Amino acid sequence: MATVLVTGAGGFIGSNLVVDLLERDFSVRGLDNFATGRRENLDAVRGHERFELLEGDLRDGSTVERAVRDVEVVYHQAAIPSVPRSVEDPRLTTEVNCVGTTTLLEAVRDGRPDRVVVASSSSVYGSGNDPPTTEDLPVQPESPYALSKYFTERLATQYHELHGIETVALRYFNVFGPRQDPSSDYAAVIPKFIDSMIAGDRPTIYGDGTQTRDFTYVDNVVQANRKAAESDAAGAVLNVATGDRVSVNGLVDSINEILGTEIEPRYDDPRPGDVKHSGADISRAKREIDYEPSVDFETGLRRTIEHIRTA
Ligand code: NAD
Repeated sequence: MATVLVTGAGGFIGSNLVVDLLERDFSVRGLDNFATGRRENLDAVRGHERFELLEGDLRDGSTVERAVRDVEVVYHQAAIPSVPRSVEDPRLTTEVNCVGTTTLLEAVRDGRPDRVVVASSSSVYGSGNDPPTTEDLPVQPESPYALSKYFTERLATQYHELHGIETVALRYFNVFGPRQDPSSDYAAVIPKFIDSMIAGDRPTIYGDGTQTRDFTYVDNVVQANRKAAESDAAGAVLNVATGDRVSVNGLVDSINEILGTEIEPRYDDPRPGDVKHSGADISRAKREIDYEPSVDFETGLRRTIEHIRTA
């Protein structure tokens, strides 16, 4: 079976992808420097005969050359993945997400891989449009993070146009699920809320809670990556989501219902760079790579709560 590379293998999405690919008999090499990822995310695969971890930095040319050696497909998940962190430290976000991606694609150009799937983000759309958002809408990145993800996908597309490498960029919409870090200052809303509500604490909502998101369970994102690698779509940019939206107030209600609690949220000022509504039209991904979300929001939320409770 083919050898594939997962960058950001120690991260939330990367580690879920690694587990899935090993289950499908691929040999998997992971690259991570654990800047935001966690070693325990790889506990389940450590020692697996078809898994190899390269600990190193995406920005380091010789490390990345080693990482792509003898690899057929690259799943590029590594990044500094937070909007607020990018507002505080735009230079780090730009170095890792833009320079790092360039370093990787240069190694791919010189090496064997002929297919690269890159992680982009719904944040590239900005706040100037009403959902459901199609890929044809003009982008409007409103944070250094969003800009770095737009750079990532455009660069991938250019490597297709200029060098014939088959690339697919996936614009993920608010991914959640097991192994997402609830503890960092920049944690995503779902693990953070579950963590505090299990402890009986009130979660803090930035804004009035009527903002909506297309919360996407991680298995759907893993499926999209796999299908993007298997398809013959090249140079494509595709939304990956469920196609449904839930408000942040609705999220708190759902967590209360599953936990059997009645915890009231606190409200604080909206954060700079956050968009009001975000939701995807996923028909292009369905058409081009046969993507079909298989886990809905409620089921995904139950599984995530179960995972956090038993961790
Ligand atoms: P994560 O922080 O859990 O994973 C990112 C991984 O990249 C981490 O393991 C981190 O240590 C690694 N990394 C960071 N800098 C590195 C470097 N210089 N060299 C090597 N490895 C490095 O985040 P995630 O949520 O799993 O995100 C994965 C990808 O998906 C990112 O590209 C992110 O931008 C994108 N994305 C995520 C979401 C989401 O909702 N989680 C939404 C849209 C896009």
